[in-house]
Amino acid sequence: MDEYKNNILTSVCAANSLDDLISILSAIISDTGYFDGFTIALICDNDRYMRIALASLPEEFRAIESAYNCYQFPLTAYEKHIADYRKGNSKIIRKGFTDDFPKQAENQIQKLNLESMAISPIIAVERLSHEFIGALTFYSQKHVITQNEIDEVQGIAGYLYQSLNARLKLEHMDENRDLIRSASEEQEKFLDFIVGINSLTAIDLIYDKFARELFDRFKLNCLGFFQEENGLLVCKRSVSSNMKDKRCIGWNRFCDDVVYEINPIAGAIPTSYIQRANVILNDMKDAIGLPMSENDRRGIQVLGNPRTFISIPVHDPIIKDQIPFVLVGWSLDEVADIGEPEIRVIEKLCSFLISSINNANLYNTVDKQKNEIDSLYHDLEKKAEMLNELATTDKLTGLKNFAYFQEVLGRKVSEYKRCAGEQFLSIVIIDIDHFKIFNDTYGHVNGNNALERVAELISGEARDMDVVCRYGGEEFIIVLPKSDINGAFSFAERARKALEKNILIIEDQKLNISISAGCAEYMPDESTESFIKRADQALYKAKEGGRNRVEKE
Ligand code: GH3
Ligand code: MG
Ligand code: MG
Repeated sequence: MDEYKNNILTSVCAANSLDDLISILSAIISDTGYFDGFTIALICDNDRYMRIALASLPEEFRAIESAYNCYQFPLTAYEKHIADYRKGNSKIIRKGFTDDFPKQAENQIQKLNLESMAISPIIAVERLSHEFIGALTFYSQKHVITQNEIDEVQGIAGYLYQSLNARLKLEHMDENRDLIRSASEEQEKFLDFIVGINSLTAIDLIYDKFARELFDRFKLNCLGFFQEENGLLVCKRSVSSNMKDKRCIGWNRFCDDVVYEINPIAGAIPTSYIQRANVILNDMKDAIGLPMSENDRRGIQVLGNPRTFISIPVHDPIIKDQIPFVLVGWSLDEVADIGEPEIRVIEKLCSFLISSINNANLYNTVDKQKNEIDSLYHDLEKKAEMLNELATTDKLTGLKNFAYFQEVLGRKVSEYKRCAGEQFLSIVIIDIDHFKIFNDTYGHVNGNNALERVAELISGEARDMDVVCRYGGEEFIIVLPKSDINGAFSFAERARKALEKNILIIEDQKLNISISAGCAEYMPDESTESFIKRADQALYKAKEGGRNRVEKE
């Protein structure tokens, strides 16, 4: 016997997994030869459940052994006896005397054709306290199990409980670590989704992004977002996972034209909308015989033989009693297995979808308003420009008017002063000769035409930077920046000659109009009045000198 115990201890020391220890324990129980079967169950999930780690059933039940393995049941099922187990006491249950035990015990006895069974705790001593880490269940078809038999097993098995406990804890730690890792991965995925969906402003892209997330997470293939519109339920947007699949194309088409009355007999979607309740059919195969509305039948028809159907009325996260849409989804080939936890995830994702759509709508409205305001500003600017143009332009000649001339001259004089000594500034005043006689002879209208023509010819001789203005009546004044007196003179001469050359034809008569001009160059610190006056004096000189001439100051 000592040798046997030594062997056990050696193999316990060599065991490097929980499974190894379970096998050793299993061998110890089998080696006694007292029982026709047994199970080894261990505590799991924060002491809330017991899970069968290994089941060895009587010969004729070997085929169903696998159904026992990993079978999990809540500890609460043994509530009544758990205190006893914790103290290390075993329970022997005899056929016909099961009243005091959970219903499962009687079931076991009947199902496995037992005479008796026993439940014996696995207790490890840790830091002087006894820790209940599992239970052994023994089955006998021929005899009533005795306490001695149990004690013998426990006597040997006790050697490995400490190792079993340590391994179990390690395993739990691993499980927890995996749980934490997958929770943090999930969180990251969620965050990616939120950031992604919130950065979109095109509504259709938001729906698509949301749909992709659902396709990725669950086995869904087709989605539709149904909204109430004019007392009917219509699909606002449909998205499918694979647009090469005929069924997906069919679904999108179906969504485009389907209209549901808001009435429970109209189908599953309006029913879930009215009742504000989720309708989940995990496998359509189970529901194929059920009566259904014409629209529902048509939907199923385009999808071939779809599997899972969901219809989830989605609540607005802010306006709680509002249902902005019903999320409808289908899986095509595989069951999507949508349970409570999945629905909770979907509902959470929907909340983000709604917020993103609201944000995008707000953004689009603001953007639209901003564009409208921009275009109003643009119009206003254009009108102001036109008004300004109108206010500074002489109607008859299209030249700048006297007011504008004053403004420009003021500006140019300031510029001149800023670049003291480096630049020039000149003006030329032009006056049509004997225009009164012209008017008196050919009439005012012809006079106007002549004025226009003269304006045109003068402008033709000016540089781009020169500003040609109508000074009033039949007089013109031209500002010539960066021109000294000689430059101004030669411009005035060119204008005079241009008029001399160009004979005006009025009422079939060839007429000559001449002009006289006076030029002046700006002198430092001179007032604009004196500057103009000097040009005027030069003009006077030209008139005095016989007209059709240019004079400079
Ligand atoms: P001078 O050679 O000395 O300048 O002789 P003038 O006749 O041109 O000068 P005066 O100042 O005596 O006459 C100017 C004339 O110009 C008076 C008017 O008949 C004519 N006039 C002024 N403004 C207009 C206008 O807008 N249209 C027309 N058709 N004639 C105008
Ligand atoms: Mg005049
Ligand atoms: Mg004149």
